[in-house]
Amino acid sequence: MTECIFCKIVAGEIPSHTVYSDETVTAFRDINPVAPTHILIIPNKHIEAVSDLPEEDEQLMGHLFTVAQKLAEEEGIAESGYRLIINNGPDANQVVFHLHLHLIGGRKMKYPMG
Ligand code: AMP
Repeated sequence: MTECIFCKIVAGEIPSHTVYSDETVTAFRDINPVAPTHILIIPNKHIEAVSDLPEEDEQLMGHLFTVAQKLAEEEGIAESGYRLIINNGPDANQVVFHLHLHLIGGRKMKYPMG
């Protein structure tokens, strides 16, 4: 677990631009943003991917989304819209194996991606 970069962010062991945190969730700005708002919302506990999500953490997943909703309001993109993405596994180009929800907005996006 200690080698996980996002666990280290949760633990405050490496710097991040954190915009929200509570007992179960942390949110911080993506280091390589693809839009004016690009925030990663993660569970504090280490879950590698959606594929590994235990049933008992259903509520935790819901919490990621309500935090996303709150942050979208704060970022001023609730009305203009935003995209929520979870990459799962190699074909989806998941790079960091600590489950995370991308909150992306502040520009018009292409359909379906980009
Ligand atoms: P994914 O392809 O869904 O695994 O995306 C991983 C995301 O994590 C990418 O958008 C990276 O830019 C981002 N990322 C990697 N390391 C950091 C970091 N130390 N702080 C913030 N974002 C990061």
